[in-house]
Amino acid sequence: MSSFSYRNGITSKGVGMKLDNYSSKSSSSFKSKVQSTGSSIRRSSTGSVGGGSKDDSAVSGRVRVAVRLRPRNAEEMVADADFADCVELQPELKRLKIRKNNWDSDTYEFDEVLTEFASQKRVYEVVAKPVVESVLDGYNGTIMAYGQTGTGKTYTLGRLGEEDTAGRGIMVRALENILAEISHETDAVSVSYFQLYMETVQDLIDPANDNISIVEDPRNGDVSLPGVTLVEIRDQKSFVELLRIGEANRFAANTKLNTESSRSHAILMVHLKRSIKGRNSSLSTESTGKTLKAPIVRKSKLVIVDLAGSERVEKSGSEGHTFEEAKSINLSLSALGKCINALAENSAHVPVRDSKLTRLLRDSFGGTARTSLIITVGPSPRHRGETSSTIMFGQRAMKVENMLKIKEEFDYKSLSRKLDVQLDKLVAEHERQQKAFQDEVERMALEAQKRVADAERNYADALEEEKLKCQKDYAESIKILEEQWAEKQEKHGQRKVKFGPVDDGIDQKSNSELSTSGEVAKIKKILQNEILLRKAAEAEVNNLRNQLTQWKKTEAARNDEISQLHKLVEDEAHQKARLEEEIAILRSQLLQISFEADQTRRNLDIGGNGELSGSLDSLIPQVKHQQPRDSGDGEKASMVKLFEQVGLHKILSLLEADDADVRIHAVKVVANLAAEETNQEKIVEAGGLTSLLTLLRSSNDETIHRVAAGAIANLAMNETNQELIMSQGGISLLSFTAANAEDPQTLRMVAGAIANLCGNDKLQVKLRAEGGIMALLGMVSCRHPDVLAQVARGIANFAKCESRAISTQGIKAGKSLLIEDGALPWIVQNANNEASQIRRHIELALCHLAQHEANTKDMINGGALWELVRISRDCSREDIRTLAYRTLKSSPSFQAELKRQRIDYG
Ligand code: ADP
Ligand code: MG
Repeated sequence: MSSFSYRNGITSKGVGMKLDNYSSKSSSSFKSKVQSTGSSIRRSSTGSVGGGSKDDSAVSGRVRVAVRLRPRNAEEMVADADFADCVELQPELKRLKIRKNNWDSDTYEFDEVLTEFASQKRVYEVVAKPVVESVLDGYNGTIMAYGQTGTGKTYTLGRLGEEDTAGRGIMVRALENILAEISHETDAVSVSYFQLYMETVQDLIDPANDNISIVEDPRNGDVSLPGVTLVEIRDQKSFVELLRIGEANRFAANTKLNTESSRSHAILMVHLKRSIKGRNSSLSTESTGKTLKAPIVRKSKLVIVDLAGSERVEKSGSEGHTFEEAKSINLSLSALGKCINALAENSAHVPVRDSKLTRLLRDSFGGTARTSLIITVGPSPRHRGETSSTIMFGQRAMKVENMLKIKEEFDYKSLSRKLDVQLDKLVAEHERQQKAFQDEVERMALEAQKRVADAERNYADALEEEKLKCQKDYAESIKILEEQWAEKQEKHGQRKVKFGPVDDGIDQKSNSELSTSGEVAKIKKILQNEILLRKAAEAEVNNLRNQLTQWKKTEAARNDEISQLHKLVEDEAHQKARLEEEIAILRSQLLQISFEADQTRRNLDIGGNGELSGSLDSLIPQVKHQQPRDSGDGEKASMVKLFEQVGLHKILSLLEADDADVRIHAVKVVANLAAEETNQEKIVEAGGLTSLLTLLRSSNDETIHRVAAGAIANLAMNETNQELIMSQGGISLLSFTAANAEDPQTLRMVAGAIANLCGNDKLQVKLRAEGGIMALLGMVSCRHPDVLAQVARGIANFAKCESRAISTQGIKAGKSLLIEDGALPWIVQNANNEASQIRRHIELALCHLAQHEANTKDMINGGALWELVRISRDCSREDIRTLAYRTLKSSPSFQAELKRQRIDYG
């Protein structure tokens, strides 16, 4: 059987925790009895581990507990000189023995046992360093000191060590460690420092800030203190300075409060934000084919808690505390003890909400943080009791199991910034490319044109030249022919004259024929020549034509290229549009996220400051929505039309129709109309109110009841109608309806109607006599918050009217009818209801009731006084807080009771 199983060592995933100092070297062999003296070893089991984890990324981590013994101080040296220390340490066995008497002692085992000689450095390395390293890795971490006043909690955690470096405590060393590890470009450290005293949080950096509220994120339960000063830390010096200021302020604040710092819890919160590089989110853009690196940030938190002294505060003892203070001083510490017991025993309910301290440390015990506890004890036998209870606290804390989880998230804001930059780059690049394409296209077009023009000109020139040449040749040929012909004619004529008419011509004739055929051959030759020349010219022309078509082809190819480039440009533009769309979507997601965050924050900040007066307004849309969901404006318009054309009387007469469907529709129409103020008078004049009340009596249909009650609630906003409702037995009809209702919404309508009636001064007595208050109280068994809110509103209204009647009309103040009818227990029970709507009404009701001395006795006996005290201190609405305070101050009975209880109120 192994005692310590130390299963929490974070070994998987390379988280890099160094737990060597904590790992057990003696995990094996203790059976329960170790020594013959009968001492028994109490040891912790590690509790249930791991299996229950819902989250893969979580690893289990038990709370680690070290014990530190303070050396004897001067006083102890003298006073206890003859006595042995009441504790004995066996650091190598990690055991502590506490002497019960001379022959008997109990032995306990801890994760680490630090003797009176342990140096601050060793204490830091053993207790704090593993936690600090976890925080640097993105986990939340807690280091807490617990022990009796004067045993060295502040020495261990808070020493600045300015005079002696070796004396530096955990706070200073932790920050030094963090500042050395982080990158100052991408990471940020900020700290807040505050104290918790009597359930009030006070800023130690800005002491004017002395009533800070704790806010919880409903989604993940994270707690934060938005009101506390947060200082970004860049170097060690400024941090030490800040601690010094905090220390001074703690001293000053506690002097003012007339307490010692040992009564307050000092809490240092270190917020670390680190950017993680090299891991991608799944966001990618098809267009660029690139995966966008979505930055991941780790936001972890280190909480260092110097607890108030663990010794019990005497009831109203030596330090002059009142009983109330004593209760309050102990509250957070005892709540912490209860939570740790519950966690150690794996109990289903852990009363985290019982105190501010436990709310602040929610993540530290049973949460996701790595937690180290150092318990401090002194050696003196005179404090054996306290020492022993401190040790038991430590033993129980060792059983608390946390599930460590990295606190990381995507940094959408910086992703968006990155996308913006990328988009701008793309846009610029796109513009450049477009311009280059255009230039290229223009240049090519110009060149093509020039070439075509050249070719055409060449062709024309060549043609012209050829033509001229041909003409010239032709003219020359003609000229030669003419000359030859003239020559021939001449020769011919001479011969005829010479030889006379005698025909001796055979020779002559053959002569002339001979010369002519020579001419012809010559001409033929010339012609052939001509033909050759022409052919050459034609070939030349063809050649040029070919060249031209060639050019045209090239031009077409160019044009193709140009249109392809155009297409490319268009594609680029598409891609740009797509990217812009993506950015828009991301932006809207971002907006949505930050909107939700704001919303949550606002809700939390307001603490549910519900509107009081407007509560019934919410009934109106409810009634309206009794119409089928698909009825939009169209249906409403047609209803108005129906109203105008059919007339109210006809519609009202349909309330008594035989057909149940018709009746239901009619009552819905009337309810819709009654929701508009302008119609209300007409409806009442036409007898609609009477018909609606009759329906409550005569119908068995719950839908009709619900809708009719809603309509009556709306009509009951007006004073005249309220009287009418009362005079027609409205209360008993509404009570009857409530008694038979199954749907909480029916009850809500009925309660809303009665709540409205409760607001009428003149009807109070009658309303009560007819059982109106009892009817309201009867409805609280339905626990639906909507119903409870209306009941609370009714009670507040009633109490307000009563108190107004007494103070303005001087009516003799008897006991409140509400108290007479037994409303007080419910009021007290719900005075701190979680739903702010309910709580606000009741807080007001209590203030009104408290105005009158006749009520005070019942209120004191019923516990209402404590609620008023709480309201006057804690209510988040200042007006109500002040009202409660004034009321308490001005009531002699309350003052007397507070005095009797020794509560200093003022
Ligand atoms: P606590 O905060 O628990 O009330 P302190 O830290 O104020 O106790 O310590 C009380 C006194 O004991 C101080 O004077 C402190 O210097 C001294 N002291 C506490 N622990 C040690 C230690 N380990 N070594 C020396 N002196 C110590
Ligand atoms: Mg201290």
